[in-house]
Amino acid sequence: GPLTTAEIREKYLHFFESKGHLRLPSHSTIAPDPTTLFTVAGMQPFKPQFMGAPAKFPGHGENKRVTTAQKCLRVGDIENVGRTLRHCSLLEMLGNFSFGDYFKREALTWAWEFLTSPEWMGLDPEKLHATIYQEDEEAFQIWTQEIGLPESRLLRFGADENFWPADAPKEGPNGPCGPCSEIFYDRGPAYGDDTWADYAQTRESARYLEIWNCVFPQYDRQDPAEDGTPVLADLPFKNIDTGMGLERIATVVQDVYDFYSNDVFRPLVERVAELSGKPYEGPQSLSHRVVAEHIRSVSMVIADGVALSNTGRGYVIRKILRRASRHAYLLGLREPTLYKLVPLVVEKMGGAYPELVGEQGRVEAAIRAEEERFLKTLEGGIQRLNGLLSGLSRGASLPGEEAFLLYDTYGFPLDLTKEIAEEYGVTVDEARYAESLENAQELARAGSKYGKSELFGGTQEALGGLPATEFVGYDELEAGGEVL
Ligand code: ATP
Ligand code: MG
Ligand code: MG
Ligand code: MG
Repeated sequence: GPLTTAEIREKYLHFFESKGHLRLPSHSTIAPDPTTLFTVAGMQPFKPQFMGAPAKFPGHGENKRVTTAQKCLRVGDIENVGRTLRHCSLLEMLGNFSFGDYFKREALTWAWEFLTSPEWMGLDPEKLHATIYQEDEEAFQIWTQEIGLPESRLLRFGADENFWPADAPKEGPNGPCGPCSEIFYDRGPAYGDDTWADYAQTRESARYLEIWNCVFPQYDRQDPAEDGTPVLADLPFKNIDTGMGLERIATVVQDVYDFYSNDVFRPLVERVAELSGKPYEGPQSLSHRVVAEHIRSVSMVIADGVALSNTGRGYVIRKILRRASRHAYLLGLREPTLYKLVPLVVEKMGGAYPELVGEQGRVEAAIRAEEERFLKTLEGGIQRLNGLLSGLSRGASLPGEEAFLLYDTYGFPLDLTKEIAEEYGVTVDEARYAESLENAQELARAGSKYGKSELFGGTQEALGGLPATEFVGYDELEAGGEVL
């Protein structure tokens, strides 16, 4: 059969060991530096080395070439889970790094070798495409002359796509950055009839899947000059930072529709089906998917020592868990259930991340307690909704602001509100609901320093820009107070 996720991870690390890299363990999901709450990329623990610090790793040795499988959590992608086929909130990033050692030639040719050689991933070279930074003639030469990629399978983009962090020159954050070259896999016409040339305009495709980002950090982005001119100072040397999403490469190698059907996620969605009695039917089974995806993130972050709370990391995790609970509720589950998925997460990921094994009991207990509290909150919302609905006549419309309040304070998904309203012959003013939601998100964004950046904006929101109403009802209930 096809390679499992664990086998792909091992092959990757082994391949780069064979190219002289030192294998290091994953850093925690808690970010090693204060630019983000969570670790968002494999390179993050190595910022000091990119900046010129010695490549010494206590307990592991010394090497200018390093390889890791890094667990990452991307707050900005939480909302993408379920919306796209390719985003997880927790992802494993496979990476190889050079601190002033090899540069573009080795990085790109080794990436190509790993992907196409039958000994490694054995992917069809014809299906691989690449993007480069518009001014990067060096990368262009390597792709077309040395690797032999036809020009028709290359695209050039500006800093919005082919610089990492994206748009670093314009928006930040400060620190190591540089142009990049990304590798895409053509999943074929079953996923869309768009062409690679179309991707230049759309920059969004279910067919052309971004699998690997090869970044060439050679600049240190510093505070802009007085007049706003970006400052990109040269780093002491040129570095390599690559990141390949393990969930994505597993999907491609196993040739399954999306990551929910790979060897790690399939058993999770099936277990959700078993617990709820509702069969998993692929992409339309949104609730199964959200639950399966979110339980992995929540388990890992709790195992890394984060306690559920109303601020910072604990808040993000609570928000993810609450979203999973809402979907469990939509599946008809009225008792704590999510914690029952933890053993499967540990079974699938505990080999690579032994902290999960050690913390399993604590993780289950924390999730179960939160589910209990959340179900009580939902009950409070149901009481409020029933009160409102019994005051309306059949054919009336429930104000959108009320539906939003139910969502924001009681964690009610709109679908659930609509379902209950329907029993009273009442409709919901969805347009007004959407407006209220938009206003709240607008508020959240206003508190975000890197407003546009998916990686760094999400963090700022979690740090303090969210609407004040979040979790108010929740805390009042916890304190034993009456909300209604
Ligand atoms: P996308 O454009 O699909 O959002 P990205 O450009 O934000 O991805 P990078 O920051 O370049 O991603 O990260 C490097 C690699 O990590 C990506 O090429 C992809 O394989 C993987 N990756 C990034 N975000 C996710 C995610 N949310 N879920 C799964 N894999 C991801
Ligand atoms: Mg991208
Ligand atoms: Mg990318
Ligand atoms: Mg992204």
